[in-house]
Amino acid sequence: MFIFGRIGGYGLARIKESDSESISRVGISRCKDYDGDRIAKSVGSCVDELGGIDRYVRKGDRVLLKANLLIARTRDKYVTTDPEVVRAVIRLVKKAGGIPVIGDGPAMGSAEKVAAKCGIGEVARAERVDIINFNRPVDVDNRSGATFKKFKIDRAVLESDVVINLPKLKTHGQMTLTLGVKNMFGVIPGTRKSQWHLAAGTDRLNFARMLVDLYHKVSPSLTVMDGVIAMHGNGPQNGVPKKVGLILASEDAVALDTLICEVVGLRKERMPTLLAAEEMGIGRTNMNKIVVAGEQLDDSRVGDFIFPETSELMNFLPQPLRAPFRNWLTTRPVLDKNRCQVCLVCMENCPAKVITRRNDTMVFDLKGCIRCFCCQEMCPHGAITVGSGPLAKLLRL
Ligand code: SF4
Ligand code: SF4
Repeated sequence: MFIFGRIGGYGLARIKESDSESISRVGISRCKDYDGDRIAKSVGSCVDELGGIDRYVRKGDRVLLKANLLIARTRDKYVTTDPEVVRAVIRLVKKAGGIPVIGDGPAMGSAEKVAAKCGIGEVARAERVDIINFNRPVDVDNRSGATFKKFKIDRAVLESDVVINLPKLKTHGQMTLTLGVKNMFGVIPGTRKSQWHLAAGTDRLNFARMLVDLYHKVSPSLTVMDGVIAMHGNGPQNGVPKKVGLILASEDAVALDTLICEVVGLRKERMPTLLAAEEMGIGRTNMNKIVVAGEQLDDSRVGDFIFPETSELMNFLPQPLRAPFRNWLTTRPVLDKNRCQVCLVCMENCPAKVITRRNDTMVFDLKGCIRCFCCQEMCPHGAITVGSGPLAKLLRL
């Protein structure tokens, strides 16, 4: 159910009411590749399973398509939302009489540059759709939220009548997977993202709470996930492609994220955004309250999905013991000196400023490291991976 309200006094946003008794519906459609016609059919059938695009977009609505434009990589690296998925959603929005725009706040470079590299720029040109680089922060009140009392999010979000979230299924060093909820982090303009990592500190559940709070504040009307060729292993930039062959859509990104975790075989306990959403009562994380429409879940599961290391052992320690054992148990950035090109990107993007250059290699001060894995995410050469703490390694033997 939707209520209509203003975010920060600008555009009209459709905000979902919480209702612990209601169910969420997720449309799921098989799609074997990125052929434009097949993608359009899959996206269309997923959205139809939810009641059709007219439920979300009215004539004249300005519709922000929040794609994943993490960093400028070619389409065949599977780092960004596929251009054909973006095209399919553009056409649906236009069919409903809406005016689509594409936007994101990439970690490096502008949205236009990233879009030009990954092929979304060409789609935008052909479909006559503007691309907006998120660099106009506006204060938004969040006193009713669980974390920050206000957010600085991009004005483009507030100027939109409808937000459609277009995440890409990938692994993520800190959050295990980047899915629908995490994709909303892009509405925080550029360098301000670092401040979030610093505010969250070493506790990844804290960071996840912030993400869920932000997702809830923006409340995209619809999430359409590109899960055709996912990225696993050392994602979200340097992993390897993994065919999952699915497009998914839902009004409830938490439910969609819960379902895709089932598909790839990830326990909810390893997914901090789902733990945070459950704790905060936002969205559905219980499969008994999620209706899967279209394909059968059991026919959609994929095996051998490779996830990053996580620090679950810390959860078994009483709170007072966590600080002294942190460096022994938690995951950490691990440098592959042979791959490192000493480009300094990791150093420039480390929120805690604990990476230095020494004798043509990079040195990480793990005492000050907050385990945000921005370095691993941003390294253009895949020279940083997520490794286990020494005690965690021993205990696993
Ligand atoms: S970003 Fe990667 S390649 Fe560049 S200095 Fe850091 S570890 Fe080395
Ligand atoms: S070293 Fe890497 S993981 Fe640690 S704080 Fe810096 S960017 Fe984050």
